[in-house]
Amino acid sequence: MRPTKSYSQNKPSKKFYFSKKKYCIYCKDRIRLVDYKNYKMLERFLLETGKILPARVSGACSYHQKQITKAIKRARHMSLIMYIEPKRG
Ligand SMILES: [Zn+2]
Repeated sequence: MRPTKSYSQNKPSKKFYFSKKKYCIYCKDRIRLVDYKNYKMLERFLLETGKILPARVSGACSYHQKQITKAIKRARHMSLIMYIEPKRG
């Protein structure tokens, strides 16, 4: 009989995350296709510098992230979104 080691110390399973749960806002709203004309929505996926947020930060799924990048580039071309945000101050 081997003595069972008491490793049954309960790990702190409850971690306290203060960040909100990430989800794809397009999937949530059941929007299948990303519209480049809806630039207000696309601005959520932009940094202050005008860069596109990566999917792991924005929380978008891969299906929509591909469309978001295309839509942002298209919107930039149509000058709906600025390439670089102007610095303030
Ligand atoms: Zn999605």
